[in-house]
Amino acid sequence: MTGRVLLAAPRGFCAGVDRAVQAVRSALSEYGPPVYVRHAIVHNTHVIAQLEAAGAVFTDDLDEVPPGSIVVFSAHGVSPQVREHAHRRSLSVVDATCPLVSKVHAEARRYARDDHQIVLIGHHDHIEVSGTRGHAPEHIHVVDPDDPAAVGNLVLDEDRPVVWLSQTTLAVGDVEATVERLRTRFPHLRQPPSDDVCYASTNRQNAIAAIAARCDLVLVVGSPTSSNSLRLVTVAQRAGARAAHLVDSADQLDPRWLEGVGTIGVTSGASAPEHVVHELLDRLAGHGWSDVEQIGNDSEDVTFGSPPMGKGRPGPPRVPRHDDRS
Ligand code: SF4
Repeated sequence: MTGRVLLAAPRGFCAGVDRAVQAVRSALSEYGPPVYVRHAIVHNTHVIAQLEAAGAVFTDDLDEVPPGSIVVFSAHGVSPQVREHAHRRSLSVVDATCPLVSKVHAEARRYARDDHQIVLIGHHDHIEVSGTRGHAPEHIHVVDPDDPAAVGNLVLDEDRPVVWLSQTTLAVGDVEATVERLRTRFPHLRQPPSDDVCYASTNRQNAIAAIAARCDLVLVVGSPTSSNSLRLVTVAQRAGARAAHLVDSADQLDPRWLEGVGTIGVTSGASAPEHVVHELLDRLAGHGWSDVEQIGNDSEDVTFGSPPMGKGRPGPPRVPRHDDRS
C-alpha cells in the first residue's frame, strides 16, 4: 500500500536557530578555529556535526575552555553565573541566546525585583530552564507540565504575589492546562504580559495539528534532545495522527511503520535542517510515497540581528590569528 505525503509548513529552522548557527559560522570566519561553544548551539546532531567539522568545539564546562578563547553561548541562554564564570576565565563571549529566551530572562528579573513568586513551567533538566532559573534563583519554582502532581506539590507563600512564566518550546496546550491547574490552586495568579511559548514552536505545532487527523503516520524530523521537536510528536498524536515518530535522519525510518499506511504527515523541529527533510522525502519516495503536497504557509518573516562579535563581559581583546601576525 502506498499513498501521499502531507508536508507541514512552516517547519524547520526558526529565526533564533538561524541566528545562533550563523553566529558560530561568523566567529569561525572572523577568528579562525577553534571557536568554543557552550552546550550544543542548537539541539540537532547534523548542525553540531557540521560545525564541529568547521572547527567548533562544544563543551558544557567552561573550565575546559582555554583562557582568552572565544566562546559562543547557545540559543538556549545562560544564567548570570555562567557569564561570571566566562568573565573569570577571561573568555570573549559571543552571546547567541535567542532574543525570545532573553525576553523570559528579563521578565524573571523584573518579577523577582517586585518580589513575585515565579512559577516557571518547564522541564527541570532542560538547559533553557536552568539558564532562566539562574536569573531569579530565590524566586523561581519550576513546575513540570508532564507531572500532574507538580502543581499540588508547590509550596508558596500565600501573602506574596504569584506569576507564571514558561519555557519557550513547550506544547501550547500543556502550558494552558498547567496554568489552569495553577489558577485553581492560586486564584490570584498573575498573567505575564505575553505568552512565552515562542512564535516558532506555536506555528509548527499549529501546522502539524492542522493535518495530523488526516495522517495515518506523522514523521517529525528532529533530534531526541530537541524539546520543540518532541512536542511536535505529542501534538500530532493528540491531534489525531494514528502514529507519530521522531526521526533524526532518513536512516531512522522504519519500513514497518509504513505497513497499512495511506497518508503520511511530515514536519521538522525548529533546529532541524531542511536537507534532512528532503532526505526523508526521498526515502519515502523510494517506498512509493512520491506524491507530496505542502500544506500551510511557510513564510515566517521573523529575523533577529546578529549578536556582536567578541563583546564578552568584559572579555579580553582577541588574540590575533596566526596569519594576522605580520
Ligand atoms: Fe528562539 Fe523559539 Fe527558535 Fe528557541 S525555538 S531559538 S525560543 S525562536
